[in-house]
Amino acid sequence: MAGRALGCRSRLPTISRQKARPIRTRFAPSPTGPLHLGHAYSAMLAFDLAKAMGASFLLRIEDIDQSRARPEWESLIQEDLAWLGLSWPTPVLRQSEHLADYQSALEQLWHRGLLYPCTCKRRDILNAMSAPQEGAEPPMGPDGLIYPGICRPDHAPRGAFPSGAVLRLDMARALAQLGGGDIHFEETGLNAGEQRIGAADIVEQIGDIVLCRKDMGTSYHLSVVVDDAAQGITHVVRGEDLQSATFIHVVLQSLLDLPQPVYRHHRLIRDDSGKRLAKRDDAKAIRLYREAGHSPADVRHMVGL
Ligand code: GLU
Repeated sequence: MAGRALGCRSRLPTISRQKARPIRTRFAPSPTGPLHLGHAYSAMLAFDLAKAMGASFLLRIEDIDQSRARPEWESLIQEDLAWLGLSWPTPVLRQSEHLADYQSALEQLWHRGLLYPCTCKRRDILNAMSAPQEGAEPPMGPDGLIYPGICRPDHAPRGAFPSGAVLRLDMARALAQLGGGDIHFEETGLNAGEQRIGAADIVEQIGDIVLCRKDMGTSYHLSVVVDDAAQGITHVVRGEDLQSATFIHVVLQSLLDLPQPVYRHHRLIRDDSGKRLAKRDDAKAIRLYREAGHSPADVRHMVGL
């Protein structure tokens, strides 16, 4: 996911929205590769935060991308996390078992006229974007290319929910339904403070994101918001690459009337050349450190914990 800094930091005091809810953190890996140092860091931070607050820590398996998710990766991830000393209640929530929940959230948004089907290919989107200067990158938001609105209808679509279609959120219409005010959330990690962005900036810098992919019947953004609410997550701990996507999550929480967690985004663990670790970075896989005789304490030390 392409990320860039959105919104700004305000010095306004923030109000905790967590008063009545038991505190809960989570780690939500996608089982599409081995657990590497970056994931381990994220999981340990969330676990340590829960422990420090006398709270619970949950594991959630984000396996909606069935073309890439593998049960063997899931087993290895759970094994590595347990080896690191983390524990969590079972059974764990597996997103592939909750597709009906995502569908029902999508139907709600559809019947409020906030979604529309989109048939564009990436090439159509690039072609429709106003010709950027030669060599310049096309405008990207936290969800990739900012959609130029090719399929967006003038009037909200009505009728039966269109199963099997790619569905985009009509961001301007959605924000208007929310009253058109700023979108904000409480950040307690990097750039701590209230993060805030105006409705017009969201439309321009994020735009009409895909909420339902054809191959999944859902999307990362929709599922993560539905599940954080379903699992009563009060504190989301995750990498800074998702910080700007959090505005999307807050819009969805507001539309679906779901509670908003506090967010703690953390620095990313990078390889020796400064690049962030990716799933293919097997060299930093926890399994390899285990096999080489390192201890969980060594791993903590490696990531600066
Ligand atoms: N499944 C996502 C990932 O592996 C985590 C998303 C999140 O923590 O919100 O990047």
